[in-house]
Amino acid sequence: MSSKDWIEKDYYAALGVEKSASSDEIKKSYRKLARESHPDHNPDDPKAEERFKTVSEAYAVLGDEKKRREYDEMRSLFGSGAFRRNARGGGQPGGAPFDVSDLFGGAAGGDARFGGGGLGDLFSSIFTGGGTGGATRPRGPARGRDVEAEVALDFSDAVRGVTLPLTLRAPGVCDTCHGSGAKPGTQPVACSVCHGAGVTTRNQGSFSFSEPCRNCQGVGTVVEEKCPECHGSGGVTKTRTLNVRFPAGVADGQRIRLAGRGEPGERGGPAGDLFVHVKVRPDELFGRTGDDLTLTVPITFAEAVLGTDLRVPTLDGTVTLRVPPGTPSGRVLRARGKGVVRKDGRVGDLLVTLDVVVPAKLSDEARVALEAFAEQTPPAAREHLDARVRRFS
Ligand SMILES: [Zn+2]
Ligand SMILES: [Zn+2]
Repeated sequence: MSSKDWIEKDYYAALGVEKSASSDEIKKSYRKLARESHPDHNPDDPKAEERFKTVSEAYAVLGDEKKRREYDEMRSLFGSGAFRRNARGGGQPGGAPFDVSDLFGGAAGGDARFGGGGLGDLFSSIFTGGGTGGATRPRGPARGRDVEAEVALDFSDAVRGVTLPLTLRAPGVCDTCHGSGAKPGTQPVACSVCHGAGVTTRNQGSFSFSEPCRNCQGVGTVVEEKCPECHGSGGVTKTRTLNVRFPAGVADGQRIRLAGRGEPGERGGPAGDLFVHVKVRPDELFGRTGDDLTLTVPITFAEAVLGTDLRVPTLDGTVTLRVPPGTPSGRVLRARGKGVVRKDGRVGDLLVTLDVVVPAKLSDEARVALEAFAEQTPPAAREHLDARVRRFS
């Protein structure tokens, strides 16, 4: 069942009831019409069969509270029949030529005019919930499955961006039949069970139930002479190599979606997507926080106290940083623009954390000098702690 059907078809008219009809009235009218048009009562009458189908289709929606609500909602959104193709041409509100298929055709890729995933998403969320139990149209070949892959990138490749060949062993479209599943030179033919409808209708008393045709799995066509390569499935297991572009700044744990690069659809259906999970190998020097790179640089106590100029590595070169006199341990210096440079113009920084290192051993000369230093230095500011300590002594 396509959403287009819902906009174009007036199921209330098909059942001969008012839009305000109660569910009992709908049921009653459906039973009467279904009995009258039932193929058993009208052998070899294609018109009756068509009417029976229309009535069943209408009841599959209106007879289901939830679907009926969705149907009403959709028709009120678009104005019932407002977009119905007019035999006289034109006639659309506002006069603009407008085809409903524009709205739904590009749903998978997201229609640019609706900001990607606008209306298409809205309706697919409505319709995936509704099920296709009452559908009397072929649902078409199934979409291929999404494929997941994992790639480990070097730290610097992730920062700068890289294109890597990615080899996947996954189902692909059969080259021999191009996915149709039919032997070259032959075509899939309409299913003899459902006559191409993709669904079969089973009758039980005065009710009829629609279900996907088992003979053709709901596709509406069957392959009579199977492709020797793929045995009729349209797909074969293939090793394929894709060049995947990882943008500058791609992060560990990120997922990159390559639309249409997943499993091909069955017998020519749309392909699924490929999702590449990115792992970034740690670097021995640099870390990363978002677009900023991080680096820890050890300095001596004297450097921290007296100040110094530090030359430190960046990912591509070096940068000199001023350590001002009296810099405490743990202070972070920022080298602007030395982080991740993204294509969209965002630039991160290099954050350098200074780590004042305490020597474990001292030469005699250094010890003498340090003791002299200690004598000249006021004690550390910890009077606030000493007061507390005295309470316990
Ligand atoms: Zn094939
Ligand atoms: Zn069938």
